[in-house]
Parts: sequence; structure tokens; C-alpha cells
Amino acid sequence: MSKRVVIVGGGVGGTIIANLLAKKMRSEIKKGEVTIDVVSDKPEHFYQPGLLYMLFGLKHYDELVRDERGLLDPMVELHLHPAIKIDKDKNEVHLKNGVVMKYDILVLATGSRPVPEMIPGLKEGGNWFYEVDACLKLRNELMNFKGGKIVLTIGLPHKCPVAPLEVSYMLDDWFRQRGLRDKVDFTYTYPIGRLHGLESVAHFAAKTFPKHGINTETLFNMKEVDPNKKTVTSLEGVTLKYDLMITIPPHKGAQVIEDSGLGQNGFVPTDRFTLKMEGSTNIYVVGDTTNLPISKAGSTAHFESDVIVENIASELRDGLTPFRYDGKVFCFIETGMTKATYIMFDYNNPPNPVTPSALIHWFKLTYNKVYWLTPMGIL
Ligand SMILES: Cc1cc2nc3c(=O)[nH]c(=O)nc-3n(C[C@H](O)[C@H](O)[C@H](O)COP(=O)(O)OP(=O)(O)OC[C@H]3O[C@@H](n4cnc5c(N)ncnc54)[C@H](O)[C@@H]3O)c2cc1C
Repeated sequence: MSKRVVIVGGGVGGTIIANLLAKKMRSEIKKGEVTIDVVSDKPEHFYQPGLLYMLFGLKHYDELVRDERGLLDPMVELHLHPAIKIDKDKNEVHLKNGVVMKYDILVLATGSRPVPEMIPGLKEGGNWFYEVDACLKLRNELMNFKGGKIVLTIGLPHKCPVAPLEVSYMLDDWFRQRGLRDKVDFTYTYPIGRLHGLESVAHFAAKTFPKHGINTETLFNMKEVDPNKKTVTSLEGVTLKYDLMITIPPHKGAQVIEDSGLGQNGFVPTDRFTLKMEGSTNIYVVGDTTNLPISKAGSTAHFESDVIVENIASELRDGLTPFRYDGKVFCFIETGMTKATYIMFDYNNPPNPVTPSALIHWFKLTYNKVYWLTPMGIL
């Protein structure tokens, strides 16, 4: 009897897992013993880290998108219909077109998304670069900005925890290059009592922000935005005036996760080592979809995918799941338009940002170009 692996979500994690598993189980797939299906709500695969560059006009949409079918191994079946319900008791995924897919092993890879509606007034008053249309709108705002107060507000949780730092350093450089820096008053806010969730990164920011003329306001949890008065008020009672508010809205996981009762706010309770959904024997969770308190990043999804693929293959072949995720994450951090640093860490070893250099910046730009090898399971 053939075993069916169904992967819901064709982003970073879902696509890597499908391709690596297809490679690993080629002979079983050829013999009809295993099938791999990916369910995606859209035909495109979009490289989200490219939005940071699109914001400054340095990347065009067409450079950041590929056809998901073209990235997938021909042995993987692609279903271009959103999943609307997951019934874990019956081992079923229900698609919007009415098809019900039975699975033996399920991988939840539906990612996370900004939900500005969680803060009153944020959708109307804030500008963000975490989605294509919003990013293009903010790009236009920036291109026309001649000076004034910019406030950066941050909601938790959100994916790519270092992107707010990157955009701050890049804005500083960008306004300098345009001869406008002395006309721009820039304030970076953060919800907790330091500048970043990761302690060493917070120290790095505290040391470097003054050199970039970046003002800071910590313990700033957005409560409400008044788009008419152009003010943002925190739960702590501080009100900041802005001419332009850039925001990283708080995120939720996918609606289907919430609707199926699999996790609060769309994040699935996940075992930090096995990456199985807590209480389940045949559901794995990858990337942003987990509720793990680690960075929601493409690299996290990538490292987790390696573990999930090995365990699914082992389980199908020998009934074993011997591999464990060690919490590994790698993030480049742009520290301006020409330099970057990076952090690498895991459950036992905290990050330690290295001295920024042009070389690391070029590594990041190079990775942006060769990214496509990652979902294909080559890099
Ligand atoms: C501006 C920005 C900069 C970033 N920079 C970096 C960086 O430098 N380095 C880094 O490592 N990470 C970065 N990230 C984060 C990274 O993009 C995400 O963490 C990563 O994409 C998560 O992978 P994932 O597979 O969990 O989810 P995703 O890649 O988001 O994939 C989820 C997929 O599931 C689909 N889906 C959702 N619901 C359904 C449904 N009901 N049915 C079917 N399909 C569904 C979605 O459409 C999507 O295709 C950045 C993100 C942003 C926005």
C-alpha cells in the first residue's frame, strides 16, 4: 500500500522538504510505494528577503519570483488550491476546490503573515515592507520624503527578527546618499526593555545606533495609531508623533491552522527537537508555522527541513525517527548599504555578531541571487 506524504505550503520549508524527500526516496516513488504532494495557495514562489531591497528600488518583483512548479522535482505532485481545513483525527486535508486528500504523513509549512488589523489604526497609519503591495507603497513614500520624523514600530511576533535593524541602518545610509540625512529624525522603537530580542544583537544595536544617529524608544508596545493626528501610542503610555510611520506589524500564522484548531494565532505547538506537532505521531511542522521561540527565518526553515526529511525517510523505511533539530539559525544583517554582519546560533550557543564588512554584505547579495538553489534542494 502506497504511503502518502502531504505538504501544505509551497514556501521555503515546504518546497525544500518536497524536493529533498523526492531525491531521497526516488526508488520508492518509482515503485509506487511513496507519493509526495504539495498543496499551495498560489502558483508563484516569492523570495521574501528581497523585499528589503525592493524597498529601495534595488530589486524588481520579477527578480524575486519563480514558478513553484518549475522549482519542484517532477516526481512531486502540486495542487494549486488553498487548504481550508485540516482534520488531524481523520488524517485529511480539505482543499477549497472540494478535494479531500488523505495523508499518512503531513507537513505543515503554511508560514506566517503580517496582521496590521491587530492594532487599531495601524493598517491606515502604518507602512510596511513585509508584503509586495505594501512595500511598493512605502517605496513611493520614501522616494517622495523630503524630511521630517520617521518612527519605526514593531509588533511581536514577526518573521525575520533582524529585518527592523537592517532597514534602520539602510535608511540611515540611503538618506545620507540622497543628502537628506540631517533633515530626517529617525526613531527605532522596540517592545521589550532592550533593542532586540536576542541579547547580543541588542548590545550590537546599542553600540552602533548612536553612530548612525538613530534614536531609540524601548518598552514600546503599540496600542493604537491615530492616522489623522499622525501619532502612535504605546501600552506603556508614550505617544510619538510621526510624519512617516514604518511598521513591522504583529504576525499570525495561516488562517487554515486557526480554523482547524491546530494552534493559537495560527502557530502550531511543536516539539523543539523532533519538530512533530505536540501530541501527534504523523504531523511535522516547519518554519514560521511552529510556535517555537526561535527566529522565524528562511534559514530556520531550511535547517529544520533537513531534519524533517531524514526523519520522514527513516520512518517510512524503518519506522524510526532518530534525527533531532538543534535550533540552528543563520542570519545576515545588513548594517547599511555597503556592509553587513551575520549571526549563527542554536539552542546551546548564543549568537555573536561579527565586525561588519563589505565582504559579508557581498555574501548576502550573492545569496539573494543563488537563493533558488535552496528550495530546489541543491544548496
Ligand atoms: C522583508 C523580509 C525579509 C526577510 N529576510 C530574511 C533573511 O534575510 N533571512 C532569512 O532567513 N529569512 C528572512 N525572512 C523570513 C523568511 O522569508 C521566512 O521566515 C520564511 O519564508 C519562512 O518559511 P516558511 O516555509 O515557514 O513560510 P513561507 O516561505 O512564508 O511559505 C508559506 C507558504 O504557505 C502558503 N500557504 C499559506 N496558507 C496556505 C493554505 N491555506 N493552503 C496552501 N498554502 C498556504 C503561503 O502562500 C506560502 O507560499 C524575511 C522575510 C521578510 C518578509
